[in-house]
Amino acid sequence: PLKLAIVGRPNVGKSTLFNRLAGKKLAIVDDQPGVTRDRKFAAGRLGDLDLELIDTAGFENVSDESLEARMRAQTERAIEEADVALFVVDAREGVTHMDEVFAEVLRRHDRPVVLAANKAESRESGTGVMEAFRLGLGEPVAISAEHGEGMADLYAALLAVAPEEDEDEADEADKPVRIAIVGRPNAGKSTLVNRLIGEDRLLTGPEAGITRDSIPVDWEHDGRRVRLVDTAGLRRKAKVQEKLEKLSTQDTIRAITFAEVVLLVMDATHPFEIQDLQIADLVEREGRGLVFVLTKWDLIEDPQTRLAELIDEAQRQLPQVRGAPIIALSAETGRGLDRLMPAVFKTYGDWSTKVKTRDLNDWLQMAIQRHPPPSVNGRRIKPKYMAQTKARPPTFVMFASRADQLPESYRRYLINSLRESFDLPGVPLRVTIRSSR
Ligand code: GDP
Repeated sequence: PLKLAIVGRPNVGKSTLFNRLAGKKLAIVDDQPGVTRDRKFAAGRLGDLDLELIDTAGFENVSDESLEARMRAQTERAIEEADVALFVVDAREGVTHMDEVFAEVLRRHDRPVVLAANKAESRESGTGVMEAFRLGLGEPVAISAEHGEGMADLYAALLAVAPEEDEDEADEADKPVRIAIVGRPNAGKSTLVNRLIGEDRLLTGPEAGITRDSIPVDWEHDGRRVRLVDTAGLRRKAKVQEKLEKLSTQDTIRAITFAEVVLLVMDATHPFEIQDLQIADLVEREGRGLVFVLTKWDLIEDPQTRLAELIDEAQRQLPQVRGAPIIALSAETGRGLDRLMPAVFKTYGDWSTKVKTRDLNDWLQMAIQRHPPPSVNGRRIKPKYMAQTKARPPTFVMFASRADQLPESYRRYLINSLRESFDLPGVPLRVTIRSSR
């Protein structure tokens, strides 16, 4: 999906636009007043464009003096995470000083910008749309978020600036692997992170404790760059006096959204609880790589037997992520820690796999021979051809006659066989089956 940051000063209609583009609204669980929710995230769609929306709304209540500086900082972070910035101005009010401040921030970044002049449904807004030209960010797209007008133009504008899906392989190689560390409160996440990268690095930041925002933390392991993409849950715990012991759904979703590999940290003394299963399922549905971490392993009496039991339990409870690595370690003693990052890199590699079309079709023929597909009304369903359409996660399309009648069980057989044949344990695989003549 295209990561789209919706930015602009308060009251221009960012939230209305966010809600219009968001397919489903995320449940925001927050019963702690006074903790600023400074960004919202959601999956969205415009035409056939899949979007990952980042909304920076919610600064309206901050005291005036710091508003501008904070919005700037917030906006910059949102832009950095996004592929494209959607800059919203109010066509009825025309260009204000604050709009110009934003325009400057946007011009300084190298992200593509689409300028939208909102509230353009009324006739008086025409001059405001024209005025927006002077922001120097190209032709404004006149829209009405509230009435859903101008969406086709917005789509065209986004498509024109969206980066190519397939990034350069060389570029890919020096990008850090983005990981997120999630799990229930007290599972041992902070202890693990501190052990991994050192306390100082995690907790320093320009605005530590002011917002609940996350600061990316970078480090290197074995010559490879790693970025911890979401520290919100960890930082909040360290900085907000009142301990928030609840698992925040939004923090978890946000972390998963921006990660490539997710480390699901579980307290080894009570692992695989219902919330852990839910998180693992979410990681699978979001198409991210997954590594299970059983921490506090120093507290386990008969480690070998216990590990075998837990591997069994994972297979049983979470067949959808079958084969995802399970790393038992103690963040306290450091034992087992050396196996963690290699597992992360292996998962990342699997997740980025591109299978050659030829190998895929050789495999397909072999798989059908070994276990022929069923017949429907006396006629055999025949898988014919398969190709990988993208990686991260590996996504395939398969053409078959009478595809719509292919039973789910056969589809599962194919996916499992694909997993085994190409050694892709644990990573989510997407297979779409289409009809061919
Ligand atoms: P978080 O809420 O997931 O960040 O959990 P913390 O890292 O704050 O850890 C919760 C508690 O578990 C703390 O009291 C830690 O000292 C303890 N803890 C964390 N890791 C280990 C470990 O590997 N072994 C043992 N014995 N205790 C641990």
